[in-house]
Amino acid sequence: MQQAIAYIKESLRDYYSGSEISGLCRILIEYIVDESYFNALVKDIIFSEDQRAILVSLIERLKAYEPIQYIMEEAEFFGLPFFVNCNVLIPRPETEELVELILNENPQPNLQVLDIGTGSGAIAIALAKYMKEAGIAAWDFSYKALDIAVLNSKKNNTDISFRLVDVVKDYPTDRKYDIIVSNPPYVMESEKVAIERNVLDYEPHSALFVPDDKALLFYDKIADIALELLHPSGKLYFEINQVKGQDTVRLLQDKGFKDVTLFQDLNMNDRMVQAVLA
Ligand code: GLN
Repeated sequence: MQQAIAYIKESLRDYYSGSEISGLCRILIEYIVDESYFNALVKDIIFSEDQRAILVSLIERLKAYEPIQYIMEEAEFFGLPFFVNCNVLIPRPETEELVELILNENPQPNLQVLDIGTGSGAIAIALAKYMKEAGIAAWDFSYKALDIAVLNSKKNNTDISFRLVDVVKDYPTDRKYDIIVSNPPYVMESEKVAIERNVLDYEPHSALFVPDDKALLFYDKIADIALELLHPSGKLYFEINQVKGQDTVRLLQDKGFKDVTLFQDLNMNDRMVQAVLA
């Protein structure tokens, strides 16, 4: 076992920080031996030829900065397990804060909720799991993402109505909602230079990027949908680009939303907006 650990540390030294390597080491070993890290150490498991080959190939992928969540095909969101691959964004901690905000602000049962651009299904599934008797719907324009969201809904035993919808084109108007939530693409093309390779080379660009001159394109569209599909006094929640806080607030106020409130994430960046349909 010590040999395998030394090999992992040595191979990744020039690519990741010490604490990242410790985390990766644990994940790799647990994945390969299918036992806890602790057991692997105590039993001093010696890798078979096959296991060694698997380790080498995983290390190569990590050296190319492929996110560990895609390699393992699993990510955790709000304490729940999600299958992920390159067709969906890896759920982010900021988005957990958005879910937490919605749960705190909406404790009443039987709410109808719509998640637009659900991706892996993270927001919709966490809400389905933790809101009392809510009716949850979720849309995405990518059928590859929707397949994954459906799989994740099953994995987490939630009942969600998924639909293939491209909001820029057309959308169903047969249902009204108490809450509409979205974490749409919001990273501007000009911000690409600051994006890490693990994100840029692997995560779906259609879920991340918007043109600089139309940075709020999805917010504009989704706000209009909310005007049409929210019940009176329904609420709209967005995750936002931290540099677009005030612009998003103004956009929503101009459309007639009330109590438009900006919230910061744990890093104190403007990250969420809540608005009420008067
Ligand atoms: N927060 C994500 C990132 O920084 C972006 C998510 C999004 O565009 N909705 O990569």
